[in-house]
Amino acid sequence: MSLATKENDPAQDWVIIHELTHGWWGNLVTCATLQDFWLNEGITTFMTAAWKEHRYGRAAYVAELDIARARLEKARAKGYDKPLAWSGSYPSLGARRAVQYSKGALFMDYLRTTLGDTVFWAGLRSYTRAHAGGTVTSIDFERAMEDASGRDLQRIFKDWVFG
Ligand SMILES: [Zn+2]
Repeated sequence: MSLATKENDPAQDWVIIHELTHGWWGNLVTCATLQDFWLNEGITTFMTAAWKEHRYGRAAYVAELDIARARLEKARAKGYDKPLAWSGSYPSLGARRAVQYSKGALFMDYLRTTLGDTVFWAGLRSYTRAHAGGTVTSIDFERAMEDASGRDLQRIFKDWVFG
């Protein structure tokens, strides 16, 4: 699940952090099917941005998400802005990554902004703890975020994840 190509990693630590992050999202908590591959890659891409925010400050986080946004916009221009859990086949690896990696990360940022830091991080923590060593689907993630926030997030998940 590496993105270790020159084109895709402007900062050297990007790949290292991405792969380390898979220790949690990808290995400890694994998507049940490839349809929910965004749970591995989108969360990992987002956490790479969050790590950069922690390490270098807010601007680094924003810059990382801007890269994701540009990738998604490129795919969108070609007609490939799909829901995160879309089960169809992508025309290229780039289009698939634009959705599962980049849009996945943007969705995490959207949830963070919408729910607020306290609720968002609590939800992500409980999702990760509850499913450690197991497999997950997008519904598991939605439930964890709903439990943490006390909100019905069906509409948001329909927009971003299920289509
Ligand atoms: Zn990966």
